[in-house]
Amino acid sequence: MAWRDGEAAPETGAHLDGCPQCRTALAELDTLREHLRALPPAEPPADGWVSLQAGLAQQRHSRLLARCGWAAAAAMVFFTISVAVRGGIEAWEEARLNRETKALVAESQRLESILRSADTSGRVTSARTALAIADLEERIEVVDARLAAAQRERRSTRDVLDLWQQRVSLLDNLASAQTSRVAYVGL
Ligand SMILES: [Zn+2]
Repeated sequence: MAWRDGEAAPETGAHLDGCPQCRTALAELDTLREHLRALPPAEPPADGWVSLQAGLAQQRHSRLLARCGWAAAAAMVFFTISVAVRGGIEAWEEARLNRETKALVAESQRLESILRSADTSGRVTSARTALAIADLEERIEVVDARLAAAQRERRSTRDVLDLWQQRVSLLDNLASAQTSRVAYVGL
């Protein structure tokens, strides 16, 4: 997103040149922005930013949590298939990657339960924190879409593992952002 908005370091461009996955993600972001720009203008609600922000945060939070059971179930199906079709040394390496992925799925679930226990409704927050949270939740949505695609396309366990790593790291940041919001309100 930073690259799309012209705010990323030059190394990001070098990485993009060599990474088809990131180029695809960037193209998806560009398309998304074009679609958003094509939407008709909407009148802001009378009670403004605060209620809009609270409503959106609540919706997004519910959607995110609704998906987590699905993601874990899909991961288990994926393990079963990928173990069944391989043999020998490959199976050993595959089992190792599967164990790592399972640990990440478990970590992802742990973080989601932390997020679920944090009731975000009706909290006052800075616009900056709200935007950071919205940005993280969007990124998680992108990762979830790519996990679903990886499942459909029977991508390698390594690819799936990478996606789960991204998901855990984003959830971790999201949990921190929500904690900082609580601390902010606590002041
Ligand atoms: Zn990349």
